[in-house]
Amino acid sequence: MSLATRTRKALYAGATAALLGATLVGASAAPASAEPRDGTCNAGEFCLYYGEGQSGAVADFANSKRDYTENGSCISFRGAGKAGAGVCVQNHAKSVWNRTGATAYEFYNSNFGGTHDVIPAGTQANLNANVYNDNASHILGDASLRFPLNVTQAQIKNRSPHWCWDSKTNCHHDYNAADIFAATGTAVVSPVAGTVMTKNIRSSGVGSTVTVKDRFGRLWYFAHMHHSPAPVVSVGQHVEKGTRIGTVGTSAHALGTPAHLHLDMRVGVDERVGCSGSGCASYGFVNNQPLLRTAFLARPAS
Ligand SMILES: [Zn+2]
Repeated sequence: MSLATRTRKALYAGATAALLGATLVGASAAPASAEPRDGTCNAGEFCLYYGEGQSGAVADFANSKRDYTENGSCISFRGAGKAGAGVCVQNHAKSVWNRTGATAYEFYNSNFGGTHDVIPAGTQANLNANVYNDNASHILGDASLRFPLNVTQAQIKNRSPHWCWDSKTNCHHDYNAADIFAATGTAVVSPVAGTVMTKNIRSSGVGSTVTVKDRFGRLWYFAHMHHSPAPVVSVGQHVEKGTRIGTVGTSAHALGTPAHLHLDMRVGVDERVGCSGSGCASYGFVNNQPLLRTAFLARPAS
């Protein structure tokens, strides 16, 4: 776990405890119908339970949630007289029932970051140890990535230096981002289905850049790409997973380092913030190394 992750979790835990009293006051206003967070796990909903085996109070959701707060308060479990009623959902869920028709991803960090558990449609289960009582956001739908380079595993593993593909934590120098070392000219493809938000063609500095926003509000930023040939997508264009974006640039485009793709992500923004190095640390970039590793391991070995 990175220092940044620990800090983030600790801050949320403090806020959660402070808000608990306020949430209990409002809990009785829940409508008694098949609506999200009415304390009943209805068909079509994704439900988090305070206890194991779908026991205790429940928090039922109809949509993805990038954190478990609403209107400045923590979202709490509902269920009069049941264990956990009124307790904040964040970091207190032990089991789930996925009654949606889609796969659900429960994440350790807010903003769909860090380690996660995958819950298939229709499944009742206790959460895996990595997110058991350590849950901060969820995606309903396919959160998985297509690895953003058209390469085999061997082509990445054999680079020196190489992307920290086997690290369990964030491994960019200054903040949550991935530097994936690859040969100049390697095709960069979109890891998600989404819309191209920005494109800049540059022969120096950070090189050519593109951003793509997906339906979960995740804004993906690709940097150090080549200027000639330039990125092939246009602003406003819809891309699918695997749609070609551009190519990995030369060392000159990567600020003097060997050629690599820089990939970072934030949630809920339309433009990538202008920052570099340690100056980016306070902007809420999300650790997506676990999703990237899974995508990498889906590539052919050689
Ligand atoms: Zn980088």
